[in-house]
Amino acid sequence: MKFPVRFPLASLPTPLQDAPRLREALGGKERCPRILIKRDDLTGLAFGGNKARKLEFIIAEALGQRATTVITTGAAQSNHARMTAAAARVAGLECTLVLTAARMPPDMTGNLLLDHILGADVHVVPASEDPTLPFGADAAKVEELVATATARGKRPYVIPVGGSTAFGALGYVLAMLELTAQFVDREIAPDYLYFASGSRGTQAGLTLGARALNATCTLRGIAVSGGEAEKIGRASRVANEAAAMLGIDVRIEPNEVTTDQGYIGPAYGVPTPACLEAISLLARTEGILLDPVYTGKAMAALIDHVRARRLAGHETVVFLHTGGAPALFAHVGALREGG
Ligand SMILES: *Cc1c(COP(=O)(O)O)cnc(C)c1O
Repeated sequence: MKFPVRFPLASLPTPLQDAPRLREALGGKERCPRILIKRDDLTGLAFGGNKARKLEFIIAEALGQRATTVITTGAAQSNHARMTAAAARVAGLECTLVLTAARMPPDMTGNLLLDHILGADVHVVPASEDPTLPFGADAAKVEELVATATARGKRPYVIPVGGSTAFGALGYVLAMLELTAQFVDREIAPDYLYFASGSRGTQAGLTLGARALNATCTLRGIAVSGGEAEKIGRASRVANEAAAMLGIDVRIEPNEVTTDQGYIGPAYGVPTPACLEAISLLARTEGILLDPVYTGKAMAALIDHVRARRLAGHETVVFLHTGGAPALFAHVGALREGG
């Protein structure tokens, strides 16, 4: 594999940490697999998360194209938007964000507050009518802002939602290499890798990495938003583009990038009771903070699979913590009641 240049943004490798008290709380060795947490919430870059790995390749590409500003989109509490704003600052670029909000104006808290502190040029537009889809009619606004920036002599580089491009996915091919080295080091052979799946670039990269390395561990992506049919098509395309960049002879089919749709709840960004339980359980057993939009729902799936005996005590599971804790502060009401 030959990776394109990367602009350093993340503190790597991130720790891979045992969670023995969580295992105990879920029934101990008899009933619950060994659980290890891959701490991608500790990548650094303005409170960390999975987008730091993606942005290393995306920002390098933007700089290679001599961009002067990056434009991206997401929900008002987008971690991707917050980390893009921080990455742009590190790279000496300007950053414009088009953010969707269900309620106008959105509360200036969590990620949105951080976008403001980082000095991003923020434009808020109303969210889509479909509650399962996170992003609405923001494409027109992005086009308008690209045109304005270009007219002013700037060179805008547009980063799609979640940074889920082939460049972004490369970050998670590399993460799979990093994980594999940690497995060898610890002399473990995990059976499953659990993670939250949104725009699915993380899953595209992990899947490609796992196939390229002949990994034995099964990937379990837990969906946090709908649109499965469209997303499996996109994720496989992104994975195959990334494979071409790496010059490797691997093809990913749409049925290899599916997710478990059972934990989305009423909508993207709305925490379920199981998500709130997962957040307080991990906090109170391991002192680790999950988030209410992504990792809380992925951990709720893992907990449910243990309780439903879909996982066994002799197995080993890795939970990829993809970050997102700043969004906790945008869900004070639900978290206070759910605790
Ligand atoms: C973006 C994000 C994800 C999902 O990653 P995708 O590549 O968009 O599927 C998971 N967890 C957190 C905290 C995120 O910010």
